[in-house]
Amino acid sequence: MNNKILLIYPPVARNSEPPLGISLIAGYLKSLDIPVKCIDLNGYWGPHLAHSISDSSKTRYHRAKLHIKNAIEKLSGKNGYSCYSRYQTQMEYYSGALACASENQPWMLTPGDFKISSITGFGVHDIETICSSASELPFKSLYDAVLEPVLTGFSPGITGISICYRSQFVPSIALGVWLKHCHPNMTIVFGGPFCRMLPEASRAYIDFILGNVILEDGERFFKNYLDLGKSAEDGEVVPDFSDYHMNLYFTPEAVLPITSSRGCYWRRCAFCSESNVAFRMDKQDVFLQKLHTLYEISKPSLLHFTDNALPPTILDLLARETPPVPFYGFVRPTMKLTNKAFIQKLKDNGCRMLELGMETAVQKHLDRMQKGTCVSDYGRILDNLHASGIKSFVYILFGFPGETETDRNTTLEFLTRHPITFLNTSIFRYHPGTRFANDIPEEHLPADSLVESSIYVKSEEQKLPELRRWMDRVYYKHPVIRKLTQKTPRFFKSNHAVFFD
Ligand code: SF4
Repeated sequence: MNNKILLIYPPVARNSEPPLGISLIAGYLKSLDIPVKCIDLNGYWGPHLAHSISDSSKTRYHRAKLHIKNAIEKLSGKNGYSCYSRYQTQMEYYSGALACASENQPWMLTPGDFKISSITGFGVHDIETICSSASELPFKSLYDAVLEPVLTGFSPGITGISICYRSQFVPSIALGVWLKHCHPNMTIVFGGPFCRMLPEASRAYIDFILGNVILEDGERFFKNYLDLGKSAEDGEVVPDFSDYHMNLYFTPEAVLPITSSRGCYWRRCAFCSESNVAFRMDKQDVFLQKLHTLYEISKPSLLHFTDNALPPTILDLLARETPPVPFYGFVRPTMKLTNKAFIQKLKDNGCRMLELGMETAVQKHLDRMQKGTCVSDYGRILDNLHASGIKSFVYILFGFPGETETDRNTTLEFLTRHPITFLNTSIFRYHPGTRFANDIPEEHLPADSLVESSIYVKSEEQKLPELRRWMDRVYYKHPVIRKLTQKTPRFFKSNHAVFFD
């Protein structure tokens, strides 16, 4: 059996750091001397397409064409991030080039996102449509130019495609079709967290026409598939980033992702699909050793902790021990962070930014979500972060079923009273299979709420048209919200916010 393994991170996602999932699998397989190679097609994709646009009579596209080479060079190095307004200009050239590539096409491209008008969901019918139009989608030239030489040189027996985000779904199916056509004898495997979101019938259909869809961790899959003795769960394996070209990424310094855990230690938020994933985490000493090993091998300038929420014992570790380079990541906004001295220790040990899922400033909704956090702690947490110099990236949700306009105004008023560095506002959505979806009363579900192709539940109780009107007329018009929204990087969000103040 040819046990050479190629792991692919497909377009389209933010190209700000190498992908962690396939790098963890590669680290595990290399530790057992299994021949494995990673390729981050996503890193090539946006610049590849942006460089290829033709000139246009439209001013925005003409400017993008004129400046795109320079803009990509700047966004891939220190020069693009020295000042926020200059960064916005470079990003405008880049997003303008992608918009130009989308003109008169059925798809819409932005930095980090891809949508196609003929694909409205993730059902069997949608997959059939992608398969039948795969060669017309804007990915084939990338697969021909960048992937084919790797396949020819490495000759893998198995290719794994890692789907982490919704925006990678269409390109991944198109990639499966391309691989089946060009390399019919190769085994294809689809994995990654987004596979867990897909309707069961869709997974079965992909299994049938293209390749296996796996829901377990990739390391566990390959352990069983190749009958390997050692398990990756021993915790000592560090991700392997040696196959990537770091100049592909839009950052001023080398950022590497790493995680101390899988799943979420809290696992209780009723709307969150992580609640269904088994949790496991590194011991403190194992994680600290991993950070140092990773630093010795790859010399990053900044670490991005990608844990869904950094577990409390790992936060304690980061307050006690200084990691080799600065870091940022997601934390639950709990009472622990109301301790000023604790926050100062995190800052002293290199914490640059914390991402906080605060969601709402209305306690009864936090309780219904089972967030396990208290609005009464939020203000002190934000004050502490501000006083220490750690940037805060706050996530807010509107449209929780039962939320009134008074509730929204309470949240708005909270946001305007506290020192927040960056703000991300979204409309509340939840997946079938989450506890919240299972508990919602049937009379609040519209007839099409659980259509086969959907990965979200719709609820009439959310009153979305009314919510959108309020957001446009009141929320985004508020000077504080407008300022916070403008200073939060539009496309790269927290991945770029960490480089600004
Ligand atoms: S929302 Fe965040 S904290 Fe809550 S269960 Fe999901 S990942 Fe964990």
